[in-house]
Amino acid sequence: MSFSLHGIGVSGGIAIGYAHLASSARVEVPQYMLERKYIKEELARFEDAIQTTRAELEILRSHIPPNAPAELSVFLDMHLMFLGDSMIAEEPKRLIRETQCNAEWALAQQMDALVARFEEIDDAYLRSRQEDVVQVVQRVLKVLTGHPSHLPLDIDFDVERILVAHELSPADMVLFKNVHFAAFITDLGGSTSHTAILARGMAMPSVMALHNARGLIRDHDLLIVDGRDGVVIVNPDESVLTEYRLKQNQWRIDTDKLKRLKTSKSATLDGTPIELMANIELLQDVDAVKTAGAHGVGLFRSEFLFLNRDDLPSEDEQYESYKAVAEALNGKPVTIRTLDLGADKQAPWGHTVADNPALGLRAIRLCLAEPGLFHTQLRAILRASQHGQIRMLIPMLVSFSELRQTLMRIEEARVSLRKDGLKFDENIPVGGMIEVPAAALSAGYFAEHLDFLSIGTNDLIQYTLAIDRADDSVAHLYDPLHPAVLQLIQHTIRAGAKLGKPVSVCGEMAGDPSLTRLLLALGLRSFSMQPASLLQVKQQILKSHLEELSPTILRLLKNTDPDKTAGLLNRLNT
Ligand code: PEP
Ligand code: MG
Repeated sequence: MSFSLHGIGVSGGIAIGYAHLASSARVEVPQYMLERKYIKEELARFEDAIQTTRAELEILRSHIPPNAPAELSVFLDMHLMFLGDSMIAEEPKRLIRETQCNAEWALAQQMDALVARFEEIDDAYLRSRQEDVVQVVQRVLKVLTGHPSHLPLDIDFDVERILVAHELSPADMVLFKNVHFAAFITDLGGSTSHTAILARGMAMPSVMALHNARGLIRDHDLLIVDGRDGVVIVNPDESVLTEYRLKQNQWRIDTDKLKRLKTSKSATLDGTPIELMANIELLQDVDAVKTAGAHGVGLFRSEFLFLNRDDLPSEDEQYESYKAVAEALNGKPVTIRTLDLGADKQAPWGHTVADNPALGLRAIRLCLAEPGLFHTQLRAILRASQHGQIRMLIPMLVSFSELRQTLMRIEEARVSLRKDGLKFDENIPVGGMIEVPAAALSAGYFAEHLDFLSIGTNDLIQYTLAIDRADDSVAHLYDPLHPAVLQLIQHTIRAGAKLGKPVSVCGEMAGDPSLTRLLLALGLRSFSMQPASLLQVKQQILKSHLEELSPTILRLLKNTDPDKTAGLLNRLNT
C-alpha cells in the first residue's frame, strides 16, 4: 500500500531507496504462562534465539565495510560479550523453569532487573552501558518474536538504503558518516538539532519529526525521501516514482551548475566582499570545505573528537587532529571551538545527564568545572596554532566572570607551554560565541575583551524563544524570524562593528539561502555554514544589492504580525 508521511525537511535533495530500519525501537513483548509439558520446548526456543543472535552478530562483524569506523568492531565485540554473559544467556532460563513464563517475558524481566542494577552504578560510563544490554536483549527479542533485526551496518552496497530510525543521536550520526546511506528519516528531532546539522554536512536528504515512521514503515519498503519539502512516500506507484526521478535529476543538475560559482569572488552587486566560511565536525570534512571553495573554517566543533569513545583524547591526539586540519587548510583560517559537550551531545564518560541539560553543565560551563580537561584542550589548540592560522572560539559564554576565568585558563595554558619550551602562536585570536540572549545584550562587553564574535543562532533562538531545538513537538515554534531574534543578531553585529571586531554567524541561519539577504541587511559580512550550503548562499550574495535591502529589513525588525513575515521575507528575496 502506498502512503505518505510529512515531517520537517532538514537537508535537501531527493533520495529513492529501500527502507533499512534501525534496530533501536522497542519490541512488543508477549506475556503468557506455559503448561509444564512445554517448558523444555520453550527453553530450546530461547537457546535457539541466543544462537541465532550470536550468528547474526558474528556475520555483521565479519562484514564490516573497510571504510567503517574502528568503533564498530568494538561495539559488536561488546554486544557479543553481553550475549554470552550468564545474566542474559542463562538467568532467563531459570525464570522460564521456575515461573513457567514464556521466553520473551523471562528475558524482558531479566533486562529490567539488569537495567535497574546498572542504574545504581556511580560511574557514568559504566552506567551508560545499560544501553548496550538493552540493545542486545532487543535483538534476541526480535528473533524470538519472529522479527529478526539488522544492525544499520548490514548493508548491501549495490542497493540504495534509507535509514529509518525512531531517533538518532549526533554520536550515531558520526558512526554513520562513513557508511553509505542515501537518506535518513526519524520520528523525533528538530531542524537545528546536531543530528540534522550533521545530515546537512553529509549533504544527505533527511526528514525528521515524522512521529511514527519507524512504526509504519517495514524493512525493504521502497521509499522516496524529499528532504526539501519534508515528505516521505512509502511504496510509491510508478507514476509517482517517475515524477520524483525527474525531480531528483533536476536537483542534481542544479547542484552541478552551482559548482561553477566556486571560484567567483564572493561579493554583493555593489562590490561589498562577504566572507564565506565552513563548519566542520571532523578532519574528514576538510575535503568538502575545499570543494565548496570556502575562505576557511569558521567553526570546528571539536567535541566530535570526544564522542563514541570510552576514553578522553590525549593532548597529543588532539594536537595532531587540530594540526592536520590547519595544515589541510593551507594557511586559511581555522576556528577551533573549545569543547561544547552537554545537551544533545553527551560523551559516555560525561556527567549524569541533568533533567534540563540544555540549561545545565554544558559547553564553557563544563570546561570551567573540569579544569584538567580544559587545560589539555587549550594546550593542544595552542600547540597546533604554529601550523596554520588558528583561532580559538569559546562556546556559550554568558557571564563576565566566565569570560575572565576562561581568559585566565588560556593564559595558564600559555605559561605552561612556555615552561615546557613548546611553541605556539602568541597572537592567536580568541573569540566568543553569542548564543544566549544575555550574551547578545552584553555583546559590547564581550567584543571589548575578545578578538571576534560568532553568533550561534541555533542556540540563540533556542534560548530566546525557550524552544528546545531538538524537540519535534515544539519545532513549529522555532522561529529565526522572530523580531526578538533579529534584534539580538543586529545588536551583536553593531556592537562588534563599533569596536572594529569581526562578527560572524555560524548557526544554521547562515547556511539557509532564504535568509542570506536578511543577514546581509542586518549588517553581517561573514557567514559560516555546512560546506554543502555554501554555493547556494554565494549565489544569493552575488545577486544582492545591499542598499535595496534596507527598507524591508526595517519592517521585518518591527513586524509583530506573523502573517506578514513570509511576505516581507519574500520581498527581501526578490
Ligand atoms: C549554534 O548554536 O548556532 C552553533 C553554531 O553551535 P551548535 O549548533 O554546535 O550548538
Ligand atoms: Mg551552539
